[in-house]
Amino acid sequence: MNISVAPAVEFALDLLFPARCVHCAADGNLFCDLCIASLSPYPTASCSKCRELTHGPDLCDRCAADPPAITRMTVGYLFDDIARDAVHGLKYGDIRALSPILGTILSEHLIGLRTRPDVIVPVPLHSGRMRERGFNQAESMSNRVAELTGLPVDNGLLNRKLNIPHQAGLQRESRERNILGAFEAGPRTRGLHIMLLDDVTTTGSTLEECARTLKNAGAIRVDAAVFAKEA
Ligand SMILES: [Zn+2]
Ligand SMILES: [Zn+2]
Repeated sequence: MNISVAPAVEFALDLLFPARCVHCAADGNLFCDLCIASLSPYPTASCSKCRELTHGPDLCDRCAADPPAITRMTVGYLFDDIARDAVHGLKYGDIRALSPILGTILSEHLIGLRTRPDVIVPVPLHSGRMRERGFNQAESMSNRVAELTGLPVDNGLLNRKLNIPHQAGLQRESRERNILGAFEAGPRTRGLHIMLLDDVTTTGSTLEECARTLKNAGAIRVDAAVFAKEA
């Protein structure tokens, strides 16, 4: 059930229960300035396509031998304790107000993009999980990124038809196998340069499968942007 709280009630709740930082619990903001400033930027010595750590800004051996569907992946931060508390607060703590904050932070990494995509596509949630959570964190972050970059969001291009169980703890190969065929893309995809957006990625298997699906449906280029990634 999705209960919307009237602004006046929300204001009263804020007075009774002031916001606390999801990481350090300081009063005032959901994600305080000090914690935001302490996020660890993702290493530039990483593969531009999959962001696996490398010895320089080159492609990793895997992407050099067999280019993935994603042309370029932008990662804001390492998925360390601070980033994890922010993402988990958003996803599992149901703190929706974190999504514009994370979207704002991610936008700063997208300002210098040399090639602007036509459209942002949030990684979709399966309808079952969407009902469970009440919102798609990737979509709400995308809306904020769209406001700040002027790029449109289209959450109707890509659909998740299979609900994949949590992939935590699985190796890359198992993740890739599990996610295969989980998405479908519509005919409007043809000819577009798309930027996929998600809160976090581990191996990039989900983003890569989304990109593969979009390209099969005619997308000319697919990039990806995530707030944080496990190294
Ligand atoms: Zn803090
Ligand atoms: Zn790579």
